[in-house]
Amino acid sequence: LPPFDPADPLGIDDLLDPEDLAIRDTVRTWATDRVLPHIAEWYEKGELPGIRELARELGALGALGMPLQGYGCAGATAVQYGLACLELEAADSGIRSLVSVQGSLAMYAIHRFGSEEQRQRWLPGMAAGEIIGCFGLTEPDHGSDPAGMRTRAERDGTDWILTGRKAWITNGSVAGVAVVWARTDETAGGAGIRGFVVPTDTPGFSAPEIRHKWSLRASVTSELVLDGVRLPADAVLPDATGLRGPLSCLSHARYGIVWGAMGAARASFESALDYARTREQFGRPIGGFQLTQAKLADMAVELHKGLLLAHHLGRRMDAGRLRPEQVSFGKLNNVREAIEICRTSRTILGANGISLEYPVMRHATNLESVLTYEGTVEMHQLVLGKALTGLDAFR
Ligand code: FAD
Repeated sequence: LPPFDPADPLGIDDLLDPEDLAIRDTVRTWATDRVLPHIAEWYEKGELPGIRELARELGALGALGMPLQGYGCAGATAVQYGLACLELEAADSGIRSLVSVQGSLAMYAIHRFGSEEQRQRWLPGMAAGEIIGCFGLTEPDHGSDPAGMRTRAERDGTDWILTGRKAWITNGSVAGVAVVWARTDETAGGAGIRGFVVPTDTPGFSAPEIRHKWSLRASVTSELVLDGVRLPADAVLPDATGLRGPLSCLSHARYGIVWGAMGAARASFESALDYARTREQFGRPIGGFQLTQAKLADMAVELHKGLLLAHHLGRRMDAGRLRPEQVSFGKLNNVREAIEICRTSRTILGANGISLEYPVMRHATNLESVLTYEGTVEMHQLVLGKALTGLDAFR
């Protein structure tokens, strides 16, 4: 029998092929070299300096729009994309958010629902990290229920005029392109909610940054203000009508979070395990006390169950068999368990647990955002509740 590996107690690595392992190692090395030495300082300052340089490096790694085909994208498998999310979020959820929004929301929307011209115009630059994208769905008064959105797109001749406001938009202030969802007037030939590809230098568009966050501090979060933004007829995404468009983008991004959350959990667990082996109280390592071992054992169980779940969903996605309810299952479980692992890890580190010298508190507070965005815990419970009972409890 192979020896027991504390880093991989279930032998999950055996599920990966050499190319998967190589991609994982490349992303892990990049995150270790480029993010970990600086992340505490960025987090403390509440900024992500050099975000454009980081985006270009992530582009060179093939991490932007990783599972998409063509247009400069890596065409990786869903499992490989998941492994990249895992390694990036083991560094910081903010870096994984940059990659998720770029690839799984903005690029995915253009790739899946855009015209050939839109794809050729935007995707190669976005895959290279030269152009940063954002995705504006949430509004100040409409989060979990985007169907109530007030941002509207009206026809003026063949042009579109966008008016409204989006809130909590990742990458907003640094984006060169925004995918914005807006209500159209169906009687004027539209079809309810449509997506628009908005160059952010269009007059009337602005994206003030939201400051004073206590979570995802190393991530740019913004409002989008759309003040009569005039767009040509071909700015609309031709193949997305209704909420189905943005929801399928979200399903894709949530899949990455299923993996990413386990990265934050793994980093916190490793920190706690290391600390428990070396920190002594009452004359012995705290890892030798049964109460600490119970915490470590329970965390290891949830961490590696979560990783197995991520692998399972990844293989289903690669087989074209992943249902949105299954993504909800994974997002609900893995983010909820990840935040518990971070909080329990923090207790093992005692007072040091609240310091930025260690990663656990940073990961725990980051995951407060991850728990809320891409569908709150409650929304995913309602998705599963509806699938289980056949009864819709959303309203
Ligand atoms: P609300 O919808 O007001 O919900 C508040 C509470 O009520 C939650 O607990 C919710 O679960 C609960 N609730 C609501 N309805 C029900 C119900 N029917 N039954 C039971 N409970 C209910 N959005 C984007 O479009 N693009 C982005 O790039 C983006 N980035 C983000 C980055 C960060 C750091 C954060 C924090 C958010 C981001 N968001 C983004 C927004 C995010 O998706 C929303 O915050 C999320 O959808 C929840 O919406 P809300 O905050 O308005 O909360």
